Amino acid sequence: MKIKEPRKIRAILKIQSEMRKILAEHLRKKGFIEISPVILSPMTDPLNHPTMPGDVTCYGKQYHLTQSMIFHKQIAMKFLEKIFIFSPNIRIEHPDRKKTGRHLFEFTQLDLEVRGASREDMMNLCEELITDVIATIKRDCKTELDLLARRLKIPKKPFKQIHYEDAYKKYGKNFETMISKTHDGPVWIIDIPLKSREFYDREDPEKPGFLRDMDLIYPEGYGEALSGGEREYDYERIKTRIHKKGQKLSQFKEYMQVAKDDLPPSAGFGIGIERLTRFICGLKSIEDASLFPKVPGKYGI
Ligand code: AMP
Ligand code: MG
Repeated sequence: MKIKEPRKIRAILKIQSEMRKILAEHLRKKGFIEISPVILSPMTDPLNHPTMPGDVTCYGKQYHLTQSMIFHKQIAMKFLEKIFIFSPNIRIEHPDRKKTGRHLFEFTQLDLEVRGASREDMMNLCEELITDVIATIKRDCKTELDLLARRLKIPKKPFKQIHYEDAYKKYGKNFETMISKTHDGPVWIIDIPLKSREFYDREDPEKPGFLRDMDLIYPEGYGEALSGGEREYDYERIKTRIHKKGQKLSQFKEYMQVAKDDLPPSAGFGIGIERLTRFICGLKSIEDASLFPKVPGKYGI
């Protein structure tokens, strides 16, 4: 952490711990089951930006460190209807991301998935979840928020929505930063073009070339909060999308075996816990949202 005052460090960690409790309780009340994180797997999220490989050899076989649990969430839908995971992710981001204030190479996502859900179901759930966390922290962590000089506003529902293309036209290629800096409540970006995302995001059958997915942008310049959407579940369409991305089926062999048999339709999202902590506590950098931060390009314990 850059912050050195023990009282402030304690306040941040107390708020983060409360946040985890509120999030988990909210989801449990809605019938979600928490499953354990997966750390090692032969397959992981290929992401839409380059990261350096985090690989480990066990018994002569190669495993990837989890970049996200997307494939495991989809597979879990065969057995469970609503799941969440506090999922540690390792993404060895380019060292250029050192100064963004919102990237770590080890972080935790609250990752969730719901069988048969639509993007709109997930947006509603997310709005309820975020307003609950903010309202409860405001009520129960007053001393800590005062110490951090953070004034939190409870956002009004429904959150504003902007189509990706309109955002691009209005604000240019840095639209995410611009939207974040110019709004005082969270903003949804919807209908993201197919080429900008991963193969597992479901294409909108009524709007070919665009996805049934969304990003949430925090206000006050804090940037992206989460990404999510509906998932592709049809084996042939998944195959086509993998090829379109120039990726190899063999990279996702175990996932494809399940998809061939049966992958239920689902939707979900993943929200970064450290980014949420940064926003709720009003921190300059994500580095202050973790006791042992791993900042891209830097050595950390
Ligand atoms: P993604 O699906 O790649 O957008 O990741 C889901 C969420 O995880 C993001 O919206 C962020 O909240 C969080 N996240 C992703 N990458 C990082 C990172 N390098 N450091 C911290 N949080 C991250
Ligand atoms: Mg994202």
